[in-house]
Amino acid sequence: RHNISFMFNTLKSITRTAAVLLVLTTAAAPSLAQEKVLNLYSSRHYETDEALYSNFTRQTGIKINRIEGGEDALIERIRNEGDKSPADVLVTVDAGRLWRAEQLGLFQPVKSKVLESRLPAAYRHPDGLWFGYSARARIIAYSKARVKPGDIATYEDLADPKWKGRICTRSAGHVYNLSLISSLVNYLGEAKTEEWTRAVASNLARTPRGGDTDQLNAVAAGECDLALSNTYYYARLLKSQKPDEKAVAEKVGVLFPNQGGRGTHVNISGAGMLKHAPNREAAVLFLEYLASDDAQNYFANGNNEWPVVQSVKPNNAALARLGTFKADSLNLGTIGRNQPTAQKIADRSGFK
Ligand code: FE
Repeated sequence: RHNISFMFNTLKSITRTAAVLLVLTTAAAPSLAQEKVLNLYSSRHYETDEALYSNFTRQTGIKINRIEGGEDALIERIRNEGDKSPADVLVTVDAGRLWRAEQLGLFQPVKSKVLESRLPAAYRHPDGLWFGYSARARIIAYSKARVKPGDIATYEDLADPKWKGRICTRSAGHVYNLSLISSLVNYLGEAKTEEWTRAVASNLARTPRGGDTDQLNAVAAGECDLALSNTYYYARLLKSQKPDEKAVAEKVGVLFPNQGGRGTHVNISGAGMLKHAPNREAAVLFLEYLASDDAQNYFANGNNEWPVVQSVKPNNAALARLGTFKADSLNLGTIGRNQPTAQKIADRSGFK
């Protein structure tokens, strides 16, 4: 009987709470309707992002509702939501993914003098479907003990048989490698790029597994002598206070490929306005805000990337240690367009 009366009282209290909530919701509705909001779909979750977003809200009065998810999951979600999607802006990484979202028809064009003047043309879509805000480079990491500087200088060199059994990388089908292969398709053509991809596959020390950090760890552990990595993974190790991560950074050196020629393959973190964005004005303001000096620093620093706005100088110890380099100036739209060819090559070449 005790239990029944307890359940009854609980039920009563739940009903009462529900009634109070209903009243509160109704009372709050008119002010919510007037509140300016931006629905941001992002896969980023860095500490500096809090400052990035609160700064925007302070400047514009627009509240940001953040939906976080995995890179590919967010694109899939927006696609499934269709014209009912509340998403205003998608923030994601790699031109390959921005291109995928573009191909699915998820973006709408944004015309903005601010964005056109502040962001280099190579890092944005020619029709304003997406914009790149921070840059990362795909570099070659090497064992300081087993590789001498000068043993390797270019991506093309990775195909040299002298590296047989000595290279680690994540899968060729991962978007970071697909974008690198896309850039090679542009410079070498499809046939030569396929030869290169097959040769690199036959030089691998092990079946591709894990992310870029796993490859850096494998070089330090002696499983391989060379690895491909995005710069921010190495920069994170450079900044780490953890003894095991510091040890990896000490054993592994990095070089910027193709400095004597076209430059190192650079990719972006970027964003675009979604086709069914309910808050278009807020979306444009946010895209422009990301190109401001303050936002550039927050956005790039959050993941140890370089700001793309040329006048903004990164204030980041790890980036300072990486130094300056010549970046490939190929428009990232081209990297996007070559993705299907790169995917075919990856599928055919034996390391997926
Ligand atoms: Fe990454």
